[in-house]
Amino acid sequence: MSLPRLRAVLDTMPSYQPTEGVYAAEHRPRPLSANESPDSPLPGITDAIARAGGTVNRYPDPGCEDLTRALARAHGIDEDRIVVGAGSVSLLQMLLQAIAEPGAEVVHAWPSFELYPVLAELAGVSSVAVPLLDATHDLRTMADRITPRTRLVVVCNPNDPTGTIADPDEIARFVARVPPTCLLAMDEAYYEYVRAPEAASALGYGAAFPNMVVLRTFSKAYGLAGLRVGYLVGDPRVVRKLRKACLAYAVNTVAQHAAMEALALRDRLMDRVETTVADRGRVHHALRRDGWSVPASEANFLWLPLGEDAPAFGRWCTHQGIAVRVFPGEGVRVTIGSREDNDVFLAAAETWRTTRPWAMAPGDRTGCETEDE
Ligand SMILES: *Cc1c(COP(=O)(O)O)cnc(C)c1O
Repeated sequence: MSLPRLRAVLDTMPSYQPTEGVYAAEHRPRPLSANESPDSPLPGITDAIARAGGTVNRYPDPGCEDLTRALARAHGIDEDRIVVGAGSVSLLQMLLQAIAEPGAEVVHAWPSFELYPVLAELAGVSSVAVPLLDATHDLRTMADRITPRTRLVVVCNPNDPTGTIADPDEIARFVARVPPTCLLAMDEAYYEYVRAPEAASALGYGAAFPNMVVLRTFSKAYGLAGLRVGYLVGDPRVVRKLRKACLAYAVNTVAQHAAMEALALRDRLMDRVETTVADRGRVHHALRRDGWSVPASEANFLWLPLGEDAPAFGRWCTHQGIAVRVFPGEGVRVTIGSREDNDVFLAAAETWRTTRPWAMAPGDRTGCETEDE
């Protein structure tokens, strides 16, 4: 019997694979694979969630008006510069749909956020992946790769999975080279974790570049990954069109209220971020002292450029009860989680380094319980 004909890309595209066991009913590993906040929501946020829960027989406010107003106040900008979405991933999807005329291309770095090429493919946009240089965006080559077909450039700053930031002067030169007709998305999902004194948010460009949009999220520093809220800041004329490209009612009432409460509790949430930043320094220092090569990270994760050893190290972490994110052939990304989880990871990394338990070629391995992939 024939199956319905779907787009051919759905035959070849890999499905999104969460790290093994993370959503299992029991024996969940220590969650260092998804860059979430290790802390449960503050009581004010669970209260807001409960209150909003009492109204879910009604549709949400499709314009997210109260949240948009609160964000405008928080950033000191006008409301007409903001688009709220169901996670910044949905805003990325919307951007790709908004530029997806036949032949359109998106330029992004690689390795960078795993979903850029996937969302591009889904939207029918060709992705042009430019390799990182020293684990950092190669902005000069990215600018060189822009052609008349390029309708979107994405810069992930800090970059996921390497945690590195792009040099602000290089960003300035790059921004000036992107044609005004090409959209430029600055993905600042980890902005709140940046401490490098020279770093600056692209929001600082203000209205100077109408082709620039900045993406932020409540999923990381604000601790609301489970509710899916993100937002975009851009030029009002661009924003007016992008709002039309969003699915109406995508951001639910509970998420809108929780995000507003998180903004109200920003100071306390940023204290938590400070704890993560401090532990990032501690874990980074410990790994470097033990001989690991780890780029300095400005996000809530560290990058181990293990190359071909990445899958074996990932299996070792799984065996040690720790979920990390493996980029085969590239490296492993490990989230800075609770202090205890970070310590368990450091111990596992040290055992690996000193004994290389599973670093042998696949056929050589013996006594390896998680080989059934
Ligand atoms: C986590 C992450 C996001 C946030 O996604 P949400 O959909 O807002 O949860 C966006 N960009 C990058 C690079 C990320 O790592």
